[in-house]
Amino acid sequence: MDLFDVTIIGGGPAGLYSAFYSGLRNMKTKIIEVQPNLGGKVNTYPEKVLWDVGGLPPMQAQQFIENLINQANTFLPTICLHTKVEQITKNGDIFEISTKSGDVHYSKTIIVAVGGGILNPIKLEIEGAEKYEMTNLHYTILGLERFRNKKVLVSGGGNGAIDWAVELLSVAAEVIVIYRKEQLTAHESQVEMLKEHGVQILLQAEIDSLIANDKKTAIEQVIISRNGETYSIQVDEVIICHGYNREVSLTFANDIEPQRKDNYYLVSQGQCKTSVPGIFGAGDIISYDDKVGLLVGTFQDAVLAVNNAKLYIDPEADQYAMVSSHNEKFKEKNRELLKEVICKA
Ligand SMILES: Cc1cc2nc3c(=O)[nH]c(=O)nc-3n(C[C@H](O)[C@H](O)[C@H](O)COP(=O)(O)OP(=O)(O)OC[C@H]3O[C@@H](n4cnc5c(N)ncnc54)[C@H](O)[C@@H]3O)c2cc1C
Repeated sequence: MDLFDVTIIGGGPAGLYSAFYSGLRNMKTKIIEVQPNLGGKVNTYPEKVLWDVGGLPPMQAQQFIENLINQANTFLPTICLHTKVEQITKNGDIFEISTKSGDVHYSKTIIVAVGGGILNPIKLEIEGAEKYEMTNLHYTILGLERFRNKKVLVSGGGNGAIDWAVELLSVAAEVIVIYRKEQLTAHESQVEMLKEHGVQILLQAEIDSLIANDKKTAIEQVIISRNGETYSIQVDEVIICHGYNREVSLTFANDIEPQRKDNYYLVSQGQCKTSVPGIFGAGDIISYDDKVGLLVGTFQDAVLAVNNAKLYIDPEADQYAMVSSHNEKFKEKNRELLKEVICKA
């Protein structure tokens, strides 16, 4: 049995920072992530510029995630990608983590960092629409460049849709927004930005059907239904932002089922401890008063969860890690970093 001190379920910001901190506290650490890549839901907004993480200059989310992954790797945790955790049971003192593929992982403690669960974009319910996902029908935007000088139709009226519509203004030839409700529900300032740029916004409108090009490879026209009438719009690219379905796959055996809120969130009993000793929560999954549901909040949760995992394994351990300047683990690394700085100078 390959036994780990800490197993972190979920490789988003909370899981990644937990992995770094767990290494800092000398614990044998594993991250299990269902997706083929780390980063969590930040991967759904890779080109968005983040301004609100303390001490960092404004940077694109994809760069931020790259930095977090590098930091998480500092103490070389074991990382299992493409691995969906399905059930957690306890055998004596050891947690057993069962995955969809049938493997079992063994751990002394668990940090649950599954955020909002596994996110699957809500797809268009139009027969045959999936074949255009290879060409010009998009549920996520991995780069703005492909939309340069294109006519882009964005379907959706929440923050996800409108943030993308605003980003597209800098590259697209034309942006059109359609939304089924009477009003857009995104941040007012973003909606104002669209209006200032004269973006056509069609409310109470829905995609009725898609007309393909002659080769049947891409969408050429989108047929919109609005107030009982239909309209045809010529397009180059179509972006669908209708939100996400949350797949909650993680379950616990009855004897270790932590207390939940709204049938989903783990209720913190203080310091990111769940109601089950040895199971901790960090990031969007953990719930407590005055919770900060932002990236910076995930870091604080990670520190609390890791420090308490350490104390659970070794009640004599220090309650907190030392600050960086006093930490033995960084002395050698600092020497290497200083050498690099001197070489560059
Ligand atoms: C559109 C948008 C814009 C945002 N902008 C900002 C911003 O500007 N600033 C800011 O501070 N915050 C922002 N946020 C919030 C921020 O992204 C979240 O607070 C943060 O991602 C939460 O991190 P997390 O690790 O808790 O969860 P997540 O990022 O959701 O990561 C959870 C991970 O767990 C994995 N997982 C789930 N279930 C399982 C399972 N059973 N087995 C294995 N793995 C599993 C998931 O695949 C995922 O990778 C934004 C959020 C959204 C949606």
